Amino acid sequence: MLTVNSYSATSATEPLAPARVERRDVGPRDVLIEIKYCGICHSDIHFVRGEWGTAPYPVAPGHEIAGIVAAVGPEVTQYAVGDRVGVGCMVDSCGECSSCRKGEEQYCLKGNTLTYGSTDKDGRITQGGYSTHIVVTEDFVVRIPEGIELDSAAPLLCAGITTYSPLRRWGAGPGKKVAVVGLGGLGHMAVKLAHALGAEVTVLSQSLKKREDGLRLGADHYYATSDPETFEQLAGSFDLIVNTISAKIDLDAYLSLLAVDGTMVNVGAPAEPLAFNVFPLIMSRRSFAGSAIGGIRETQEMLDFCAQHHLGAEIEVISADKINEAYERVLASDVRYRFVIDISTLA
Ligand SMILES: [Zn+2]
Ligand SMILES: [Zn+2]
Repeated sequence: MLTVNSYSATSATEPLAPARVERRDVGPRDVLIEIKYCGICHSDIHFVRGEWGTAPYPVAPGHEIAGIVAAVGPEVTQYAVGDRVGVGCMVDSCGECSSCRKGEEQYCLKGNTLTYGSTDKDGRITQGGYSTHIVVTEDFVVRIPEGIELDSAAPLLCAGITTYSPLRRWGAGPGKKVAVVGLGGLGHMAVKLAHALGAEVTVLSQSLKKREDGLRLGADHYYATSDPETFEQLAGSFDLIVNTISAKIDLDAYLSLLAVDGTMVNVGAPAEPLAFNVFPLIMSRRSFAGSAIGGIRETQEMLDFCAQHHLGAEIEVISADKINEAYERVLASDVRYRFVIDISTLA
């Protein structure tokens, strides 16, 4: 067993603080990763603050992990010491159910093992990437291609795949009109990816404050949702709307922006139920859907796509002692567009 440095939460109300976490011995099919960077996802904050149920404290969050392979078990075939690798939101799944067999481990019918706060097969609580090392079975490790820096690659492991998967599933590409609701951590990746896929991209944001950024990231159009004219002007426009907002929105207004056969996909997860009228769905054969991260194979595909198109997240790198401050800034939407922890500051 390894004991390594981390930044962990000990309760829902205390700030995160330096702590030690345990990692299992490197098993036959395990990879030991020296973590270089870990992104700060809004989910980390919800989780450690107990907003999604009581967390198993102490717990180190972090599921946007980028690092270098430091050791491999004797049966590992895909990775070698020195490889650039990543780990996202999952570290294991049953491997046998219909979802797992399709490579959609995120929808494992028996429930996958999340990177932090889950009970692992050995009974231990998983500990995330705000730490210097992690041990993961090779099936849940992905390769970070040369051509993406490790720091800007880290957020791709959650924000990147969460937006890439629905864009691919609902056919974002040339000739398709895609709207991205919200230009935050998820939204900025959705814009970059949809643009690289060849779609015509529109950002729908509260205000025009980030308009220049949005256009620089690849958006063709940018509208303020606080302006009621936006909804009149864009009615019936979009083949796909990716909603990254985790707050309550006027769903009817957004659904009216879909073209015939258009789909609105939620990747943001509001705590309260959303209400909407079915009539606008019926009259234009529209769909309302949800989507969670992506499978391991698709995550690799996304990383390869990003390398090909020279895409990474827009980041602000911080030292570990700034994590609590960064949380407050995330909550105040004061980040462009993802905080990434330099894990060398934890050593
Ligand atoms: Zn996340
Ligand atoms: Zn499964």
